[in-house]
Amino acid sequence: DELVSQIAAGEVVERPASVVRELVDNALDAGATQITVRLLAGGVRLITVEDDGAGIPRDELPVALRRHATSKIADLHDLETVVTMGFRGEALAAIASVSEASILSRPAGQDSAYLLDARSGELRPAARNQGTSVEIKELFFSTPARRKFLKTDATELAHCVEAVRRHALARPEVGFAIWHEGKLVEQWRAVNAASREEALARRLADVLGEDFVAQSVAVQRDSGGISVTGRAGVPDAARSRPDHQYCYVNGRFVRDKVIAHAARSAYEDVLHGQKQPIYALYISIDPARIDVNVHPTKIEVRFRDSREVHQAVKHAIEDALAVPRA
Ligand code: ADP
Ligand code: MG
Repeated sequence: DELVSQIAAGEVVERPASVVRELVDNALDAGATQITVRLLAGGVRLITVEDDGAGIPRDELPVALRRHATSKIADLHDLETVVTMGFRGEALAAIASVSEASILSRPAGQDSAYLLDARSGELRPAARNQGTSVEIKELFFSTPARRKFLKTDATELAHCVEAVRRHALARPEVGFAIWHEGKLVEQWRAVNAASREEALARRLADVLGEDFVAQSVAVQRDSGGISVTGRAGVPDAARSRPDHQYCYVNGRFVRDKVIAHAARSAYEDVLHGQKQPIYALYISIDPARIDVNVHPTKIEVRFRDSREVHQAVKHAIEDALAVPRA
């Protein structure tokens, strides 16, 4: 089982940022309002993710680390309607198989927190407010071949920050902080706004800069049960590198060829040459029309009707940029 977990870990955990992504997913699923990420050596020596979410009852702590243990879906049919970030029950087991992991948690109504050490299985009372802290030390210490592929601490840190940024852009109502070597590197405070659109605009300004918001237009289009919102950069804001292209499907960050192609074709007539548009797009679609269980990292989706999604995205951006349609 150890070996199976380590092989699965190869698919889920590529670098510290993959751990950060999974742990922040879990914190969000637990309903956290504040998430703090602490790193040492770009996350290679230590990753701690602390949340103020629902917590894990003492008796469920060992279960959380077990492979295919998920509290989020009861059977495969639930996959059609999955709304949580996690559902495979693989991440914690995989991560723990290639690190020294511990979980400290206190659910509401339990008088003390409990700390579970994954290696030894020791479970003991500890101190903590409501919520969960997951600590991952010495990633890949037992798999030196994988550790060798890691880049410098600065590069790994940049990937970790990017992982949190992707979550932060989808969840303006949640506060995020990232510490590295005891220094605060990013902090995005929870946004309280009258509307989702306003909340997103404020979070986008915090995370991507005031310039991004100033140099972009609101996207808002509903058709055929597909809603596309967000902001699209004006042509002048285009960059030579594609580093500000964020896409979400039902709140989940995705990399998707259909969406990317649709966006590119919407910009085709206004962006000449090599420049890349910048945008943050949020697509809502009936979960039954997508498959998120394509890859363990859940960064890819499959659309049952990709032509409709393509059109919806393209038209949404064209409308926002006021590009005339042929
Ligand atoms: P998944 O998220 O796919 O269910 P994970 O391996 O990521 O699988 O987590 C296993 C289980 O551990 C989750 O289903 C959840 O019950 C519990 N868990 C993990 N992290 C947290 C957290 N931060 N707060 C509350 N519960 C958690
Ligand atoms: Mg998870």
